[in-house]
Amino acid sequence: MKIFRSFAFRLSVWYAMIFAISAGVLLLLVYYLVINALQRKDEEVIRARLNEYAAVYQGGGADALKKVATQENNPNDERSFYVDLVTPWVSTPILVPQGWMNFKIVPYMIRREFEINRIPKNGERDYSFIPARMPDGAVLVVGRSTNNRDLLWQPAREIALTTVLIIVLLGVGIGWFLAHRALLPVRQIVATARSIISTGNLDARVPTRPSRDELDEMVRLFNAMLDKNQALIRAMRESMDNVAHDLRTPLTRMRGSAEMALRQTDAAGLRDALADCVEESERVLSMVKTLMDIAEAEAGTMPLERRTVDLCQLIREVVELYEYVAEEKKIQVTTDLPPSCEAPVDATRMRQAFGNLLDNAIKYTPEGGSVTITASLANDQATVRFKDTGIGIPAEEQSRIWDRLYRGDKSRSQRGLGLGLSVVKAVVQAHGGSVSVNSSSGAGSEFAVVLPVAKASWQRPVATVTPLPAARAA
Ligand code: ADP
Repeated sequence: MKIFRSFAFRLSVWYAMIFAISAGVLLLLVYYLVINALQRKDEEVIRARLNEYAAVYQGGGADALKKVATQENNPNDERSFYVDLVTPWVSTPILVPQGWMNFKIVPYMIRREFEINRIPKNGERDYSFIPARMPDGAVLVVGRSTNNRDLLWQPAREIALTTVLIIVLLGVGIGWFLAHRALLPVRQIVATARSIISTGNLDARVPTRPSRDELDEMVRLFNAMLDKNQALIRAMRESMDNVAHDLRTPLTRMRGSAEMALRQTDAAGLRDALADCVEESERVLSMVKTLMDIAEAEAGTMPLERRTVDLCQLIREVVELYEYVAEEKKIQVTTDLPPSCEAPVDATRMRQAFGNLLDNAIKYTPEGGSVTITASLANDQATVRFKDTGIGIPAEEQSRIWDRLYRGDKSRSQRGLGLGLSVVKAVVQAHGGSVSVNSSSGAGSEFAVVLPVAKASWQRPVATVTPLPAARAA
């Protein structure tokens, strides 16, 4: 049955077993202690009676003792004593053969004077005896049945066993109930996972409880993982749509240009059509390249061609590149840069990263706004900031904008694949730097790129920077 295979049931059976074994050991211990105490008590009683009879024997001889002992010990009474008296019979030592060439010297034969309450041969009663030698050589044995011990122990044993049995059964039941209740989150996770697998519906979530134990933490993390997976799958679907959509336009135009080229008869027309063709294919290639770059960066294998370059010069080039776009949107781009700021970077990659940041700043700033780019150096680090007066980023989106293919809610109307910031992050991290954002919805954004820079290279002419091989030789 299903219940017997459940973890909760097995857990409670284990507990019950451990409990039963412990209880058994405890009972045995108590048994031996009680039996020992009873045995000592019996011995004391027998010894007292023995002393009493010894005095009678020494005072009045065997006959007096027989009389007293017979009077006092009724064979029908469980608690009566066994009394046995043997006296020396032959006083000369004799040899008793014991096997081949082996004799034992017995000092004298003995004679049983009397015996009261003889032990039954089949031993249905257990006895304790204490013998004592009298001054005249006679041996007096007094004993008593130990049945009273069993009588005392029997009910205790039955009660103990029944109690343990009841406790074990209760333990299994209550243990199973508690374990079953405690494992509810696990069953819910199983049910949720099963429903997602069978229906493919990623909306299913495990119900959460307000408590904060390990299982609830697991449920929360499981739900968080589902959220993340769902967001990623949604973003990937959207990006597939975007990629398909964004590729279709230049490809369609390319085909149009090629068809036009085929229809052209004069050389100038043909040249123009082919130039269009090349331009469109360039756009397609760059998009595909960005996707490949991201894949490379995510795998941590982005190759860098580091050379000492002037970051300020690089920024000026990027600004120049976007001059036309900014002008068209009536956005003022200003820079506040030191005369030179050198850093060992891959110029192409860094240009791409800065380009993406400026592109975003212009893209997400409404007409008439402004973008300011500043660069500074502190603690061997170059910091480049891109500050805009644009739409800003809501706090809850800020941690996700770096995710590959993530696009902000308000940004859907703008062109883009949600790859720009992923490229920025990948490039900057590949250079050992970091990038962060400071923004609030509607109040503009500031992106800060921090790059490690050897202090010696800052503000110094390019030519004097020590090339790598020399540095290695030193
Ligand atoms: P894309 O711009 O193609 O959507 P990005 O990876 O460059 O993708 O940016 C991710 C998201 O971050 C954008 O969709 C946008 O919501 C937000 N974002 C990036 N830069 C800015 C900015 N300067 N101002 C406001 N939002 C921005």
